[in-house]
Amino acid sequence: MDNSKILESYARVAGEDVMEHLKQLAAHLRGLKVVHVNSTREGGGVAEILRKLIPLKRALGLDTHWEVITGGQEFYQCTKSFHNALQGDRVMVSDTLLQAYEDTNAANAERLKPVLQDADVVFIHDPQPAPLIHFFPKRKGSWLWRCHIATNRPYRPIWKYLRNWVTRYDASIFSLPEFAQPLPHPQYLVPPSIDPLSDKNIALPAKEVAAVFEQFKLDPVKPLILQVSRFDRFKDPLGVVEAYRLAKNMVPLQLVLAGGGASDDPEGEIVLNEVRLAAKDDPDIHILLLPPDAHRTINALQRAADLVLQKSTREGFGLTVTEAMWKGKPVIGGDTGGIRLQVVNHHTGFLVSTPEGAALRIRYLLHHRDKLAKMGRTAKAFVKEYFLITRHLKEYLALTIILRMGGPDRIEVGM
Ligand code: UDP
Repeated sequence: MDNSKILESYARVAGEDVMEHLKQLAAHLRGLKVVHVNSTREGGGVAEILRKLIPLKRALGLDTHWEVITGGQEFYQCTKSFHNALQGDRVMVSDTLLQAYEDTNAANAERLKPVLQDADVVFIHDPQPAPLIHFFPKRKGSWLWRCHIATNRPYRPIWKYLRNWVTRYDASIFSLPEFAQPLPHPQYLVPPSIDPLSDKNIALPAKEVAAVFEQFKLDPVKPLILQVSRFDRFKDPLGVVEAYRLAKNMVPLQLVLAGGGASDDPEGEIVLNEVRLAAKDDPDIHILLLPPDAHRTINALQRAADLVLQKSTREGFGLTVTEAMWKGKPVIGGDTGGIRLQVVNHHTGFLVSTPEGAALRIRYLLHHRDKLAKMGRTAKAFVKEYFLITRHLKEYLALTIILRMGGPDRIEVGM
């Protein structure tokens, strides 16, 4: 699709005025080379966002690139521990793993030198590539550290180590105010977003939605509750199984836990086995291991579900919540991090802290279908207003302009 067609298609969903605004902002940045760096092209929210943000930036005429750093097993083991520690786990990381982390960044810096050295703006996503900046003492552009993780209560020793890299950046971006940290540079607040035109979120023919019942041997009649997530303890899949069991005593029910791995997440297999054990041989629990490109399947499952759960105990943002809300589903979500930004209690879903609470909310919604439908409509309107990619991009563009012109220390670019 050519660029003007791409922009037109977004105008149809987000509005002409929104696209006009984006074009005006982009005009100030034409000619700039912008690079995003993360650690996986598939799996997890960051890859999901970049996959759509980069082509849209390009369609607006910005010279935008997406680079991915790669490493060995020790590197991913180290960065997964960082992730867990930033979300509050007390984890120890050995010197050997730290060495692998730094060596991997050194090797990737060498490989990426031709792209990064002369870039005007560099977005480094999350801790995996954070040390890259150290290897560019003569960097030309502004470098931002974009953190997608719930850092409200980081485990101090690990944050102290990572902070040493982060302080070298020109600015950092967090998703929520409570994630911001004492840092010696400007901080910005930008929540993530979904792309309404991606395979994951586009409207689907009813036939394609109905087909998932046959494909995964689901009961076409029994109410269906769904959680889509990597198999990660912070997503609390065991809590979901418990909530399902409690709710099933009150209403007929089936549960789908759909997930796959992210190439930078080595713990998935262990958690998946724990979930299988907890599910035992309950024929109404369906654990689906989906390939990383199963976007339309996830889309169809989210549409087929009566309601969606995201019972995380920590959550940087939770794109799965946005995706479900965009499909008109109320979300029963863990009362934490980015879920709180999206689930407005009693309006777009319910916030819960225990499996018991989740079970009661499941029962309530399945017994009050009018309320369920109304909450779903409110949820969709809420996403349209605040969590589409066009809003996200507008804030990145505004932030880039501010950064290049100099701006106040700590501002909220968006909501
Ligand atoms: N996802 C997917 N396949 C899976 C599990 C998740 O495509 O098996 C997608 C999901 O639809 C969402 C993203 O990965 O777009 C997960 O983002 P989220 O912010 O919810 O969580 P993260 O994995 O980044 O912690």
